[in-house]
Amino acid sequence: QWIFMNGEFVRKHEAKVSVYDHGFLYGDGVFEGIRTYDNNVYKLKEHLIRLFESARSIMMEIPYSLDEMTEIVVDTVRKNDLENAYIRVVVSRGVGNLGLDPRSCGTPQVIVIAEELALFPKELYKTGIEIVSVATRRNRPDVLSPKVKSLNYLNNILVKIEANLAGVPEALMLNDEGYVAEGSGDNIFIVKNGVLYTPPGYVGALEGITRQAIIDIADDLMYTVKEQPFTRHDVYTADEVFLTGTAAEVIAVVKVDGRVISDGKPGQETIRLTEAFREKILQDGTP
Ligand code: PLP
Repeated sequence: QWIFMNGEFVRKHEAKVSVYDHGFLYGDGVFEGIRTYDNNVYKLKEHLIRLFESARSIMMEIPYSLDEMTEIVVDTVRKNDLENAYIRVVVSRGVGNLGLDPRSCGTPQVIVIAEELALFPKELYKTGIEIVSVATRRNRPDVLSPKVKSLNYLNNILVKIEANLAGVPEALMLNDEGYVAEGSGDNIFIVKNGVLYTPPGYVGALEGITRQAIIDIADDLMYTVKEQPFTRHDVYTADEVFLTGTAAEVIAVVKVDGRVISDGKPGQETIRLTEAFREKILQDGTP
């Protein structure tokens, strides 16, 4: 396996980062999770724009242009000869001293890892999953925007730990007002009377690329889509619930906090949107 590190490809066991890297010391950096479908990198431009916007927001300059980053990602996938790859792009502030001040850091480090994709078990796409809501809250959008995909993923990790403790594959994070924000690494949609609802970014959700793809597909299929805040009550009483994310794609949720959603099976709109999403995938790739 070849890893792209600051301008060259190195073997996996040689891909090492300094203990003085501020990404390691402080979570000072940004990242993206991208995937391929049959050798096409899905929505690469959208992911890289989000990466550059995350970096801009934390005043970090990525030492490559958008075009160069596009080439780097595609080259990393090719070099590893992967058909269905999960790609992780990490840009950390770089190597500095032990102080917080990013001015001690040199150039940001750019790392691209591509490896075989790992999804939820196939069976769960047929049955749907159970989730729980947890105590960990999403950080406030006005403090550090959840739109920034930063290397500070501690609240998402705490959500994952709470999901593990509850014995479910994913969990739901609320914001500090109690509105539903998102999962540890996925966005949430609910369907009620044929209308799709998903929390707006200002509630405290990352504006997922898959989330946007579903919104676009739903628009094409003449659904009404509303980005508006909702609570757990609305989730419990929804006709359908599903999650979206790069790795998860679209997955139905059939039980939330012990409440069975409708008849406990993936709903027909969820199935229809998932099928439309899969059909459209190949049109959205960068070969
Ligand atoms: N929410 C969080 C916190 C995430 O980390 C991710 C994954 O990137 C998502 C949602 C889903 O976003 P996307 O569809 O762009 O993968």
